Amino acid sequence: MATSFKDLWHHLHHDEVLETLDTHEQQGLTEQQARERLATHGPNTLTAARQTSWFKRLLLQFHNPLIYILLIASAVTLALGEYIDSAVIFGVVLINAIIGFVQESKAEDAINGLKDMLSSSAAVIRDGNRTTIPAADLVPGDIVLLASGDKVPADLRLLSCRDLQIDESALTGESVPTEKQSGQMARDTVLADRSNMGFAGTLVTYGTGRGVVIGTGDHTETGKIAGMINDAVTLETPLTRKINAFSQILLWVILAMAGVTFGVGLFYGQHWVDTFIAAVALAVAAIPEGLPAVVTITLAIGVRRMALRNAIIRKLPAVETLGSTTVICSDKTGTLTENQMTVQRIIAGGTGFELTGGGYDPVGELLQDGVAMTSGITEHQALHHCLLAGLLCNDSELVEKDGRWTVHGDPTEGALITSALKAGFDRHEMHGRLQRVDVIPFESDRQYMATLHHHDKGHRIYMKGAAEQVIAHCGQAMNAEGDLVPIDPEHLQTHVDTLAAQGLRVLAFAMGETDTTQLNIADPDQDGKRLIFLGLQAMIDPPREEVIHSVTQCGKAGIRVKMITGDHALTARAIAERIGIIQGRDKDQQRTLTGQQLAQLSPDELSKAADQVSVFARVAPEQKLRLVEALQTRGHVVAMTGDGVNDAPALKRANIGIAMGINGTEVSRDASDMVLADDNFSSIEAAVEEGRNVFDNLVKFITWILPTNLGQGLVIMVAILLGLTLPVLPVQALWLNMTTAVFLGLMLAFEPREPGIMSRAPRLPDVPLLNGEIISRIFSVSALLLLGAFGLFQWSLAQGASLEEARTLAVSLFVVVQSFFLLNCRSLTRSVFRTHPFSNPWIWWGIGAMWLAQLLFVYTPVMNLLFQSAPLSLQHWGLILGYGVFVLVLVELEKGLWRRWKERH
Ligand code: ATP
Repeated sequence: MATSFKDLWHHLHHDEVLETLDTHEQQGLTEQQARERLATHGPNTLTAARQTSWFKRLLLQFHNPLIYILLIASAVTLALGEYIDSAVIFGVVLINAIIGFVQESKAEDAINGLKDMLSSSAAVIRDGNRTTIPAADLVPGDIVLLASGDKVPADLRLLSCRDLQIDESALTGESVPTEKQSGQMARDTVLADRSNMGFAGTLVTYGTGRGVVIGTGDHTETGKIAGMINDAVTLETPLTRKINAFSQILLWVILAMAGVTFGVGLFYGQHWVDTFIAAVALAVAAIPEGLPAVVTITLAIGVRRMALRNAIIRKLPAVETLGSTTVICSDKTGTLTENQMTVQRIIAGGTGFELTGGGYDPVGELLQDGVAMTSGITEHQALHHCLLAGLLCNDSELVEKDGRWTVHGDPTEGALITSALKAGFDRHEMHGRLQRVDVIPFESDRQYMATLHHHDKGHRIYMKGAAEQVIAHCGQAMNAEGDLVPIDPEHLQTHVDTLAAQGLRVLAFAMGETDTTQLNIADPDQDGKRLIFLGLQAMIDPPREEVIHSVTQCGKAGIRVKMITGDHALTARAIAERIGIIQGRDKDQQRTLTGQQLAQLSPDELSKAADQVSVFARVAPEQKLRLVEALQTRGHVVAMTGDGVNDAPALKRANIGIAMGINGTEVSRDASDMVLADDNFSSIEAAVEEGRNVFDNLVKFITWILPTNLGQGLVIMVAILLGLTLPVLPVQALWLNMTTAVFLGLMLAFEPREPGIMSRAPRLPDVPLLNGEIISRIFSVSALLLLGAFGLFQWSLAQGASLEEARTLAVSLFVVVQSFFLLNCRSLTRSVFRTHPFSNPWIWWGIGAMWLAQLLFVYTPVMNLLFQSAPLSLQHWGLILGYGVFVLVLVELEKGLWRRWKERH
């Protein structure tokens, strides 16, 4: 389509643009046209490119000093004519690399897959109606509506704008948002200066606009810049970085020890081949190769579990941080409450009214003093205009589907349409009679919205918003007869307070006549109070049932919940009491602070208030940032929710920025670490629970894996130091490390949450991963492994067993003891005998698979040949199993002692 116009869209008149794209500014495309174009142009998505090719990623698996050593070992054994050993070592290196590669790709895919759950949507006009569609379904010619907080979904030629500002830093590097306009521009204007265009992936930071799609998917400016589409997830977190660093140090230490062993052996005149093999055995045995991979996989499993509970992780470190969260700062509307608004009370012209009915269903009655109003509402002029203002000063739509009414747009506005319809207004008729000519959209920091309408005698302004703001713009009020009377702000405020104290969200309405065609609401302090106050509409937004339980859970878990809202202080307080954020005997003393009060505090006072106060109302989004910082100076790990464009800095600054999947803006999602698929506070609590579980399971895994390596390392070291035969050969150590990490250790990642996981205090981030109890367990189990393996090896040799048999015995002992110790590690503190044996079935599958593999290792001739193993007798197995049970019981006794010790201290 119109390739000749490529790059000239900015230069065309907007009628030409519409004509070229065969579309209509008010009607948009028809569904039929859109379907056809989608088939021709394909979906509006970028062809994803992986950061590194699979081949390179596979090669990277070999980039590890241990692998180099193994490759050398393979070469040396080959040169010595030990073909089988050489092949086994090489084979193991290869299999190891493939397993590592597959696991890493799976973890990466699991996390990348979450991106699909976060697919964005676009507001478009199709068939003359405003609707919301997945951004991927946009086609050239679609008319797109932009509002602050949106991500521009495709390349657009702008048709109209109102104060539209777009942050194009992602495309141009320019950090100041560009002011947009819709006029024609010179042909040779460079891309960055084309202010009548909107580019895919850039962010609307202010105002509203309407544009026509001129390019989608890879044909957008963003799509042309290959590098930009690489926002592939990294699998790194502070913890994995620490563990990688630890593994690196360990690696070098062990390699150095292996080097020394080699040197010492040569010095004592031993054959260099034997010493070399011993040194390789030591290195292979002692290095925990599986550690970094399993840590990443455990995190990825945590991410998946969180997604199942509606918390979608965007940045992997959040998985860890969630477990340490000490404060959750949450928005009220939609997160703690249902965001299902229904107007229940109206006060206009000094009279109180009630509205019956629930939800957005426009069926209900208008009652005055409990009696249905029989006379038309035009009889009551203030009420008439108050409802009309709500209907016209409104950008949302009510839609009925299968008998259910829902809102497209803002729920607050939806409630106002419903209330007007209940009172008998005809929406289309009113929009026709009072056509809108201009609008000042709602912004959280302004707290009002205003529209300008054309009528037979001139132009009329309607305004709606927070009561304080609207009242401040009014010099007079309208009474029932439509006459103008002096306004009494204090009296109105008492009405507002009474409604708000019942937990209702209160909006005020005003109107004014003007002769200008451009809406301009001046600061009331400078330009006088030009508007006429009409009335108040108060709507209920019930708290979410499940949130009450979640708030209690957070309390038990040592996590404080704070409400930070743009709503009225009394409304906020009433809701906070209902869901238990404010509670206890001294709840009257628990203060609520408003944004205005916050602004007057010194940094010291602010930091104290941030810590103590639980409800912050009428907070401007900018103040959220200050609150996060204040809490952080007090040492808190802060999770903060946000949905608006101005929340982005606070979300970035918080330890965990949480955005909303349904009602949040794209800008806030971009700045967040986690997105709630259901906008529900309870999902944060669920994510914290999972975060704590991930951490527990990581520590369990580390506690389990380290003794395997330490034990093997010690067995080999002792043999070398005592100048005895090696109880474990390098290939056998490779077998042990490869199989046990995958079949046994990994299964701990599936361990369910421990009971009482939410009854303990948050883990402080600087507390070391392993405490004294665990370190001592690691050493004692290593010592038990050394004792068992070495003792059994020597004993069986003394009994006349062959070297192969004795070594097989030592290797099998490791497998069996590690299987029993795996059961111990299912909980680090609780007794395994009190843990439901099948709460993690994976453990049993893992042990079953491991033992089967070990039986093959012991009894099949092929494995006997490859790994120099030999069949064992029943008596041998009896001894090994007995020792395994002995270790299991001993560790449980040790846990019991620790429990007692902790009870006493
Ligand atoms: P939260 O921050 O908990 O989500 P909120 O939704 O009440 O709270 P804002 O959206 O910033 O916060 O709204 C602040 C105030 O602005 C509301 O209390 C209401 O009085 C007014 N308001 C909200 N939505 C609109 C709207 N669409 N048009 C006009 N005024 C509005």
